[in-house]
Amino acid sequence: MMYPNWLSQRAYLNGSRMALSFGEQQWTFAELDGKALEYAGKLSAAGVTKDSRVAFLSKSHPRFVMLMYACLHAGCEMVMLNERLSKAELAYQLEDSGADFAFVDDVLADKIDSPRKMLFSEIDKKEELPFMPEPEWHSDRTISIMYTSGTTGNPKGVRQTAENHFSSAVSSALNIGIAPDDVWLCTVPLFHISGFSILMRSLIYGMGVRLHPKFDAEQCAYELQAGRVTHMSVVGVTLERILAALKELDLEVSPRFKVMLAGGGPIPTNYIHRAGSYGISVLQTYGMTETSSQTTTLQPDDADRKAGSSGKPLFLYQVQIGDAKKAGDIGEIHIRGPQVTPGYIGKFADREVQQEGWLHTGDMGYLDEEGFLFVVDRRSDLIVSGGENIYPAEIEKTLLAHPAVREAGVCGMQSDEWGEVPVAFVVLNAPAKADELLAHCREQIASYKVPKHLRFVDALPRNASNKLLRRELKTWDW
Ligand code: ATP
Ligand code: MG
Repeated sequence: MMYPNWLSQRAYLNGSRMALSFGEQQWTFAELDGKALEYAGKLSAAGVTKDSRVAFLSKSHPRFVMLMYACLHAGCEMVMLNERLSKAELAYQLEDSGADFAFVDDVLADKIDSPRKMLFSEIDKKEELPFMPEPEWHSDRTISIMYTSGTTGNPKGVRQTAENHFSSAVSSALNIGIAPDDVWLCTVPLFHISGFSILMRSLIYGMGVRLHPKFDAEQCAYELQAGRVTHMSVVGVTLERILAALKELDLEVSPRFKVMLAGGGPIPTNYIHRAGSYGISVLQTYGMTETSSQTTTLQPDDADRKAGSSGKPLFLYQVQIGDAKKAGDIGEIHIRGPQVTPGYIGKFADREVQQEGWLHTGDMGYLDEEGFLFVVDRRSDLIVSGGENIYPAEIEKTLLAHPAVREAGVCGMQSDEWGEVPVAFVVLNAPAKADELLAHCREQIASYKVPKHLRFVDALPRNASNKLLRRELKTWDW
């Protein structure tokens, strides 16, 4: 299938509508399209063609948006690098992606050493070549390549096609609706699907984007009060900090504000209630890089009744539990729909992502009798102890419910008697004894799930997305 070029089409249909605002500056779709064409001419002078693969490493600002839009016009593939990664991690992804160019924000110049590196300021200086954008895009064109967080192993480079982004935007709109004057506040990284999908929705809906250089709770609270924005993407921690800032600054949220989309993991129900008291609807979502994010969503009305659930699939998507015979059976979560990636690149290029049309997510979960999805844990972290399945997340949650526990990480340890047994690493925020925490566990969970050892540590191993690396915990000593 062919789409008209989204940028040209949007500039043609709604050229005078606000497309992007940043600080005091703003651009209409026609202006942004003009900037993108200018940059496309410069990229062409730099040697970029529609067959190129270019990597980006940048902070969030309008010039980055313009350069990405220039690449949309140029028809090349964009590899989105995460600026929080270490130099070695960036070098790995740059190498794995085989990108022809690495376009780097000047302030991040030191993070990449490569003959393929070109700073944004160097692109600026290029003499524009005459440039004609592709009038049409193939739906299977790869627009972006994003690396997974690397929680379970090496990060995998995921292809995200025009169809993946289109269906993701449309499914979300079928769920929450769209209006011509909607404006999405973007304080999440543009290199991550959470931020990039806001740009895709902007083009596909004709919706404005209010861009912040980074997340700042007070700035967000003022935005919500000012009534300029209608939507926003958050994770649990950022939502909590915004709610605290609203309270601290004693602000009201404008009635113009509609919805917060919350990803990354279940949101405590007390956050949903606190948000509700400001008139904010919070939609919890489950998704992954391989599904261009959001696949299932929990509506605020169900948040109490279905606490801990990630909701139901969006209209175009299907969710199944592999091997489940009845509601409540835990198995691997399988996903089908037009948002599912056609595959990986680089080192994982040969790995089949879909089996008979279904994406095998590597996440374990169940559907309850009403069809609500509950994500239980990663399949690779499952501990089998004396024939019983143990999910580390359940034990971590139990430990975290103790007031003295700030962070908890659980993994399996070899045992001659049981095969494997669960062990726990805990970061405290108040003095406590191991025995006390284990007694707390014994009250809450079955005895075979109670950690066999518990060790106090200063910090847990986490990746750039702040996710716990249990595979690293497994190598820690006792
Ligand atoms: P890697 O695939 O490299 O191990 P990753 O899976 O952490 O890394 P991402 O694609 O960024 O990389 O994260 C998607 C994963 O995040 C999901 O597969 C799931 O495990 C977890 N996740 C996302 N949303 C939720 C949610 N609402 N509840 C529980 N887990 C979630
Ligand atoms: Mg993954």
